[in-house]
Amino acid sequence: MDPEQFRRLGHQLIDWIASYLGCIEELPIRSSVQPGQIFAALPDEAPERGEPWEVIIGDLDRIVTPGLTHWQSPGFFAYFPANGSFPAILGDLVSTGLGVNGMLWATSPAATEIEMRVLDWLGRMIGLPDDFLFRSADRTGGGVIQGTASEATLVAMVAARTRTLRSVAARGVSAADAASRLMLYTSTQAHSSVIKAAMIAGLAAHAEDRTHLRLIDVDRGFALDPDRLGHQIAHDEAAGMIPCFVCATVGTTSSTAIDPIDRIGPLCNRPGSAPSGGTRVWLHVDAAMAGAACICPEFRHLLQGIEHADSVSFNPHKWLLTSFDLAAMWTRDRRAIIDALSITPEYLRNAATSGALGAEVVDYRDWQIPLGRRFRALKLWFVIRHYGVEGLRAYIREHMRLAALFEALVRADRRFELLAPRPVSLICFRLRPLEGEDPAATDARNARLLEAVNASGRVLLSHTVLPIRTIDGVHQAFTVRMAIGGSRTQQHHVLAAWKLIQSVADDPAVCLRST
Ligand code: PLP
Repeated sequence: MDPEQFRRLGHQLIDWIASYLGCIEELPIRSSVQPGQIFAALPDEAPERGEPWEVIIGDLDRIVTPGLTHWQSPGFFAYFPANGSFPAILGDLVSTGLGVNGMLWATSPAATEIEMRVLDWLGRMIGLPDDFLFRSADRTGGGVIQGTASEATLVAMVAARTRTLRSVAARGVSAADAASRLMLYTSTQAHSSVIKAAMIAGLAAHAEDRTHLRLIDVDRGFALDPDRLGHQIAHDEAAGMIPCFVCATVGTTSSTAIDPIDRIGPLCNRPGSAPSGGTRVWLHVDAAMAGAACICPEFRHLLQGIEHADSVSFNPHKWLLTSFDLAAMWTRDRRAIIDALSITPEYLRNAATSGALGAEVVDYRDWQIPLGRRFRALKLWFVIRHYGVEGLRAYIREHMRLAALFEALVRADRRFELLAPRPVSLICFRLRPLEGEDPAATDARNARLLEAVNASGRVLLSHTVLPIRTIDGVHQAFTVRMAIGGSRTQQHHVLAAWKLIQSVADDPAVCLRST
């Protein structure tokens, strides 16, 4: 392909994307393809000869689009959003066009230093203390772009492990002995990526292995109970275990519960007489969705106590107009991350890394799992510069307003009930149990409600279970989730979704007890 052909096709494909996003509202949100259908639509073998571009582009309409769930649709309220924007798409395009690999400062200084600066901006936007930023005087902190929140958690966990093993080694405890006694903590409501990180880090043999991982119970608002955490840490220390890592969540996936960092933080930093020589536990804060809200001063309280944390991350790709994938992560202890992840074979040695240029440089390969990295900072840079901080705040505030509106509508309809507090823009609700109804039957009615709403093609919701206390104990109640945060979602979409939910609830197959 020569540059002129690229230019022509590039314009055509930009047109295609603009048209797709322009008419996305008309497409059924959920794909109706059957498993294997797309696979079968493609030839068994790769084409021997290059194909004409009209055919390739035609297949976007013929094969790809029908097989999509339209995440950018304004009626998409499922999971958390993966909201994108035109500035972010352009940033990604330029990043791909430049084709640089920013693994080392030396392999593209602009990729590294723009990322450093933009993460300092973003960190300040959400109110992080300076010691999480590159601008801090003591140069111990800084931010990095990871692909996902899961990667950020894994990076934090391995940094915690390395820091703990080094600290106990200084007191003569062998790495093998200490490693067998490490303990990780998170809440029962934390994202599964914490358990997955433990599995990858070799601290859980499988998803149910709790040898090194404690899932701490939550309070009635589904937030981690710090008293239970404190007791568990003390109990484990007394038993000779070495507490190493706590993952607190600001905005849990199921209900956006906010773990109280200001109460968890002090538990992670206590002098003591335990084998670990007192507790210095790495506190990671996973604010994947809710962190974006903190760009508005009125929501900064969600991160209250963040000064206690060693690392924090949130996903601009969820709720800050920065197309997937981009997870921002900051640490106050970059040395620990570098100690855990740095390895320099001969082929990566260079003057900048070794300090021969007279200044310390950031080599982001030492802050992440892979070696290579895309120039992701460009899209975040474009987004922040295009909208400005005020524009982004207005965006978040509008979603918060819509969420409050939807919550009020649910509250006003006696057939429904809210199942969780709403700190940000996720509403957890269900059809109320009928008089004397078995909890399983209530769940089944709500599952039917969800399926009927989603089958409409106009709205897509998702579900979770939340531990609801009943007179018979705790029931994992089927909960419908309405997550507001799509870049195209406006008030009339939210009202239309509620009208649809109400009309489905009128259907006897949904609203009446099963016989
Ligand atoms: N943490 C929380 C609280 C989440 O809600 C999610 C996803 O929704 C994740 C982590 C995982 O996100 P990612 O896909 O960026 O790894």
